[in-house]
Amino acid sequence: MANQEAVWDITLHTECPSCEEYFDIIKSQDDFWVDARFGACEHSTKATIGVDVECPECGHEFKVDFSY
Ligand SMILES: [Zn+2]
Repeated sequence: MANQEAVWDITLHTECPSCEEYFDIIKSQDDFWVDARFGACEHSTKATIGVDVECPECGHEFKVDFSY
């Protein structure tokens, strides 16, 4: 019998500074990994500081620094 698959489920939460919506950036953007210049869990690097994010609730655009 083959081993069961175990799937990593990485989330990247932030809070919108405008409407205070707390959301997962990865799940809110279908193309999150398409143009990604960073790897999973990467943080404190040039590519993960000041990343543009759009709030799925109010559309406010702001920048985030990834943290792990
Ligand atoms: Zn918002």
